[in-house]
Amino acid sequence: MVERGASRRVAVRLGAGYTIEVGAGALSGLGAAARGALGPSAARAAVVSNARVFGLYGPAAARSLRASGFAVARWLMGDGERFKNLRTAERALRFLAESGVERGDAVVALGGGVVGDLAGFAAALHLRGVAFVQVPTTLLAQIDSSVGGKTGVNTPAGKNLVGAFHQPRAVVADTATLRTLPRRELTAGWCEAIKQGAAGDARLYAQTVRFLERESSAAWPSAEAREDELTRLVAAQCAFKARVVAGDEREDAGRTDARSRRILNFGHTVGHALEAVTRYRRFRHGEAVGWGMLAAAEISLRLGLLGAAELESLRAAVRLAGRLPRADDLDAETIRRALRNDKKSIGGHVRWVLIEGLGRARIVDGREVHGRVVRASLRSALGAG
Ligand code: NAD
Ligand code: MG
Repeated sequence: MVERGASRRVAVRLGAGYTIEVGAGALSGLGAAARGALGPSAARAAVVSNARVFGLYGPAAARSLRASGFAVARWLMGDGERFKNLRTAERALRFLAESGVERGDAVVALGGGVVGDLAGFAAALHLRGVAFVQVPTTLLAQIDSSVGGKTGVNTPAGKNLVGAFHQPRAVVADTATLRTLPRRELTAGWCEAIKQGAAGDARLYAQTVRFLERESSAAWPSAEAREDELTRLVAAQCAFKARVVAGDEREDAGRTDARSRRILNFGHTVGHALEAVTRYRRFRHGEAVGWGMLAAAEISLRLGLLGAAELESLRAAVRLAGRLPRADDLDAETIRRALRNDKKSIGGHVRWVLIEGLGRARIVDGREVHGRVVRASLRSALGAG
């Protein structure tokens, strides 16, 4: 049993409105949170997870749900991005039908972003939509994928191209689950955390960097102090993402202002290209975003938007996130060509999310950034050839 530390609640104004419960040991409150959100008539909780995560946290999740009066059914999907597809979704739908999940019942996603996206998508489709509760267990899922209501699967045409907007009714983010997370998954999550701060909130950026500095120097006065700060930080990250999404829930393609959902794509233009040129085998997505932020910051510097000291701060922050797989053996021109296939391009033009200072994104049309500038920026950011 994990000691339950001080937890934090983040109120989210999306869908019907819901609460994100953040804290070490929050999982033991899952049943109460689900009951509070769904009301007394909800009878079943259909848990979707994978073997690894369920082995670690499934029993505690099921115990908590049962204690709040839910009949618990479970179904485990394969572990990994390659299982986030329509075939798995179809199997999940069969599980929901066979478990007798009715209108008032709920799907509970226990796992990282893969489980969350797949389970949320199945919840959006089953009976044209049943309630959905997220229990994110990776850093990325806690601060990013579980907030915002995007659910979906990959298809042969590309990643996340099929899906639905389906807001959860409650989110329970237990920061103690991060203790078992592999190092690279943490690094990937920290890169997305740095991204959220750098793209939209200077204070969040500073808070994130401060946490990482203390982590790296083991400068915590006590384990409780660290746990409390982690809770505060994850809650602040969730609140940030929820705020951005609430201002632009469906990602209006025409919007290019500093408050649009698009700013969350900082670091992703080059990040996606790096993933593509290495055939999704080298980088965790967040790791590629780590390099991508540095490339976007280099462009920002060259366009006179960003100062050298700010670029250096971002470099240091990404270093603190953890070691990234190398990118210096890749060719800058090859990466530049891969940029054009980005899903978020409009009419074939890349929309760069650049920064004018840490905490303020600026969206710039790709036609305004010369190929030479892109290549030079890739070379200095990645050491690419
Ligand atoms: P993931 O779900 O694949 O999890 C990473 C690995 O960690 C898996 O092997 C998983 O089994 C394991 N794991 C999870 N929790 C663990 C724990 N507590 N202890 C030990 N191991 C654990 O990866 P992810 O990074 O969480 O999510 C990536 C997915 O999220 C991608 O499919 C991406 O498209 C999606 N995503 C969605 C959104 C959105 O808005 N919906 C946003 C960002 C990313
Ligand atoms: Mg991302």
